[in-house]
Amino acid sequence: MPRNINYLRLSITDRCNLRCSYCTAWDKWEKLPAGEILRYEELLRLAGVAAGVGIRKVRVTGGEPLVRRGVMEFIQALHQQQGLTEVCLTTNGVLLNDLAPDLYAAGLRHVNVSLDSLERDRYRELTGSDHLLEVLAGLERAAALGFHPLKINCVVLKGINDDELVNFALLARERPYQVRFIEFMPTVSQEQWIPHFLPMEEVRRRLAAALGDGVPVGRNATAGPARIFRYPGFQGELGFISTVSQHHCPTCNRLRLTAAGRLRPCLFAAPELDLKSPLRQGASDEDLGRVFREAIHRKTAQRDAFVPGRAMVSIGG
Ligand code: SAM
Repeated sequence: MPRNINYLRLSITDRCNLRCSYCTAWDKWEKLPAGEILRYEELLRLAGVAAGVGIRKVRVTGGEPLVRRGVMEFIQALHQQQGLTEVCLTTNGVLLNDLAPDLYAAGLRHVNVSLDSLERDRYRELTGSDHLLEVLAGLERAAALGFHPLKINCVVLKGINDDELVNFALLARERPYQVRFIEFMPTVSQEQWIPHFLPMEEVRRRLAAALGDGVPVGRNATAGPARIFRYPGFQGELGFISTVSQHHCPTCNRLRLTAAGRLRPCLFAAPELDLKSPLRQGASDEDLGRVFREAIHRKTAQRDAFVPGRAMVSIGG
């Protein structure tokens, strides 16, 4: 059966208010000139074209999407985009406590919050800033407002935060959060990746030893690669994403659009298709749709070797 490519991750900025040590080599990082970043009207037009080729779900990402001025109006407009059935946001949560009510009013209900430590000193070390309490307050506020699902994405880093696995899991017992553990991907350098990579099977083994086995939960048509489990007595759920150790290629349903307007068929392969040039040179919706179709066509069951040199802050995760 042909894959249904129905999910687009839309990066609206490369700017971020955190400096997570594993995300990129920040000393070499160069931000995009403002004029190179797609304007909101350009992003909305591309979202419309994407809907025309079968995209149903759009996730707004970055950089940190909540630092871009005008993001509320953009999210509201995305909700009005014909053909899209799901609009979600990925954020580091630093501004969530302040912005959750406006995001809710803009129509948003699905938020993923990236959080890799529940310990204040470690969080500060990992992210370069002391915002853990704001992030936790933001999650509480979002839950109280009725955001659902409210997911926490935790990248597991061996020797850095793998002693917090059970604490993260217990957060899903105490709160209605879906806590998802994610394998560390070799985005920048192998030297940094190898010592800190922990396979998801090991994460599951350690959690099973502490909590027992969970009951698997079914998936919907636009669901990502997470395997989700419920545990007795938990308000929330746990999820496991083994992007590196188990290939998801045959079921991968997503495209990625970088803030610079490049369409990426695969997170793990370098080829990107330029959408910004045709967009700014007056291409028709049909022409732009052809670029999306080409990207969909290029998504094959084979995964190319991972090509480093493109950090998550540029792609959007
Ligand atoms: N600022 C937003 C956030 O924090 O969710 C969106 C962008 S951020 C680059 C997206 C996600 O990529 C975060 O969850 C981050 O932890 C994850 N990420 C960055 N580098 C990674 C890596 N090498 N392996 C796995 N996940 C990574």
